Amino acid sequence: MELADLFPNEDTARGWFESLLWPDGEMCCLKCGSVNAYRVKSGKPQPYRCRDCKSYFSLKTGTALAGSNLTLRQWAWGIYLVVTHLKSISSMKLHRDLKVTQKTAWFMLHRIREAFGDMLTDLEGPVEVDETHIGGIKGNMHAKKRRTLPEGRGPTHMTTVVGMKDRKTNKVVVRVIDNATQERLHAFVESHRREGAKVYTDEARGYKGLKNHETVKHTAGEYVRDQAHTNGIESFWSMLKRAHKGTFHHFSVKHLERYAYEFAGRHNIRDMDTVDQMAHVVMGMIGKRLLYRELVA
Ligand SMILES: [Zn+2]
Repeated sequence: MELADLFPNEDTARGWFESLLWPDGEMCCLKCGSVNAYRVKSGKPQPYRCRDCKSYFSLKTGTALAGSNLTLRQWAWGIYLVVTHLKSISSMKLHRDLKVTQKTAWFMLHRIREAFGDMLTDLEGPVEVDETHIGGIKGNMHAKKRRTLPEGRGPTHMTTVVGMKDRKTNKVVVRVIDNATQERLHAFVESHRREGAKVYTDEARGYKGLKNHETVKHTAGEYVRDQAHTNGIESFWSMLKRAHKGTFHHFSVKHLERYAYEFAGRHNIRDMDTVDQMAHVVMGMIGKRLLYRELVA
């Protein structure tokens, strides 16, 4: 009902996108940035024109929605469904709900995830840093592919995701790393914490040598020592893993990072109103371009 009230038709959806892209009401060319732009009086796919660079553009120009044939109303509904499904939404469900093909729904999801890709930096701390390994489940794999893998039932093709959680704000940043070397882990920590912010990790060698650093021993079965634990980031991992298992039956390492962005992104805006969450996603789409051929390559 909320969604039907918000976006009953294409005009309301367009008005909403306009208000986000041009908050002060002044139209701005989405190609060159000139404010010397106007609305063309027709129902064209590119209904705006810039007097300076002479080009026609739409509200999708220069955003992750560029080249999409879907209506803005379908996009608004799609964004709503992504921000309100805490365990994420599958392309199959989106395809049914929005009456688009599954392929279109799949591409939509990736474009929306791209909006969550902006990484927080400067977490004040104290922060917890930890890695997790996410793998495919063989039972869900195509038999032909499964035969090429070693025997046994366990997960396979593990991918490492490293994450940081700020204890004060509960904000999370995540990134897929090929190899959890000391150099990469240190680089991750330093590019996301405020300089000198306290950091808690487990005893993995890769974290040795960090400044203002305290470790928690997992191996020795040590009790949680006052502040020295990584329970916050670990609970984020368990949510990500549960959702990965429940929602994404087809495992794809290639897109795992984007799924992880989506989870971290949704987690970070969970205290906002739904409409503000949606606006946050639209703002994150500006300047992003994702091509289908790159995704399936
Ligand atoms: Zn222009």
